[in-house]
Amino acid sequence: MIVTIDGPAGTGKSTVARGLAERLGFAFLNTGAMYRGVALACLRGGFDPSDEPSVGRLLSELVLSFSQDRLLLDGEDVADQIRDVSVTDAASLVAALPSVRQALVLQQQRIGEGTDLVTEGRDQGTVVFPHAECKFFLTASPEVRALRRVEEMRRKGVTAEFEDILSQQQLRDQRDESRAHGPLRPAEDAITINTSAVSASDVLDQLEAVVRSKLLQRR
Ligand code: C5P
Repeated sequence: MIVTIDGPAGTGKSTVARGLAERLGFAFLNTGAMYRGVALACLRGGFDPSDEPSVGRLLSELVLSFSQDRLLLDGEDVADQIRDVSVTDAASLVAALPSVRQALVLQQQRIGEGTDLVTEGRDQGTVVFPHAECKFFLTASPEVRALRRVEEMRRKGVTAEFEDILSQQQLRDQRDESRAHGPLRPAEDAITINTSAVSASDVLDQLEAVVRSKLLQRR
């Protein structure tokens, strides 16, 4: 079974998707990490993340893989580096390039073949796994999402201003929602959950109940 969880940053997608995979004994795929990996390779190589021919050439020689949910770039563990602010920004630029999306969508579909998988991103229920049996779309108000991000950064010892985070987030949301290929939007058959006032563990309980009832119906 494939379970897709889409939505913008700061809605608790990653925490919930990882937790759900663990509870169900499914594999977990964080597709944002893949776009971030391409972005990191661009920055390291001095390429413009919006320049499709250069990014395409780079991608054709790049090997993205996972080890225990940590992203490897040509075998190197870059799970921490891809969380950098510069990578976050560049990721939404490379993610707007059709050839990058096409290549990563294929890789994601291959990862999902014949596997029980919980996968999270922006286009998992719409483009990558349109026939997934369980689709969720998480939302939250922009202010709650930005506040969560500020708190996450503070926990890591990084000072962040709420207003800056909010405006950067708006810019990335706009890029994700307006791109021609794989834009951020809920699939028609997705269940939308607003996480603004709900704890991650309550969201997790809700999602688990839905998936378990689908699993029972399958028998
Ligand atoms: O989810 P995360 O914030 O790590 O994703 C980083 C960036 O990758 C997002 O801003 C988005 O532009 C892009 N992305 C995407 N499609 C996905 C997952 C992520 O376009 N399936």
